[in-house]
Amino acid sequence: MKLILLGPPGAGKGTQAKRLYDKHKLVQLSTGDMLRAEVASGSELGRQAKQVMEAGQLVSDEIVIGIIDHRIDAPDCKSGFVLDGFPRTEKQAVALDEMLRKKGGKIDGVIELAVDEAALVERISGRFTCAKCGAGYHDKFQQPKKAGVCDVCGGTEFTRRKDDNAETVKARLVAYRQQTAPILPYYKAKGLLHRVDGMAGLDQVTKEIEAVLSRIKS
Ligand code: ADP
Ligand code: ADP
Ligand code: ZN
Repeated sequence: MKLILLGPPGAGKGTQAKRLYDKHKLVQLSTGDMLRAEVASGSELGRQAKQVMEAGQLVSDEIVIGIIDHRIDAPDCKSGFVLDGFPRTEKQAVALDEMLRKKGGKIDGVIELAVDEAALVERISGRFTCAKCGAGYHDKFQQPKKAGVCDVCGGTEFTRRKDDNAETVKARLVAYRQQTAPILPYYKAKGLLHRVDGMAGLDQVTKEIEAVLSRIKS
């Protein structure tokens, strides 16, 4: 199964993508994570992406399309994947269809996580991640069971993203509104769009996504 999780920054895409991996072994393909790895490695591509990301703008279509085109050829993607944070522009959506067509596949469903803009700033400002295993947490909504210790791996170091500040969030929301939200009708017209209430609690959102999966499969 090949899915897309679509929604504004902070909507819960990464959180739900990880759960889809745990339950269905659908590989999480997060262009944000891939770009942050490039930045951390100091590669030429990372150098190009760094400032754009810190400003809350979108990295060029060519760069992210190239990254995804390469990544989905890896053996672990054969049995299915969840795209998290890609596509983010109409050009990326069209390029994705084209690359999958060439490889003999297609998108099975697009799940929109709908969240009020007012809630996103709080979600993003409280977000933190285990430095060792990448598990995601929130100061208020998803605290580790034991304070300061990762539930998954026992790690005690956590990181916060540089672009998760109130000012950059505003720019990222503008980018979402202007460049990403317009691709919703593209998928709606193909009959692939499923809307899930992303304002609900974490487990309820997971339940609704599972219900969508059953519908897609049947
Ligand atoms: P995205 O990948 O869409 O940017 P994340 O999955 O990283 O979003 O979620 C952003 C933050 O909000 C995280 O700290 C996460 O723990 C928290 N979060 C995710 N889903 C919910 C939810 N349904 N209710 C409350 N908090 C949530
Ligand atoms: P979030 O879901 O919280 O907005 P991501 O981790 O998906 O964050 O993305 C972080 C940043 O990486 C974006 O603000 C953007 O600069 C860049 N980025 C990630 N995916 C894409 C993409 N598909 N196209 C362009 N830029 C991207
Ligand atoms: Zn951990």
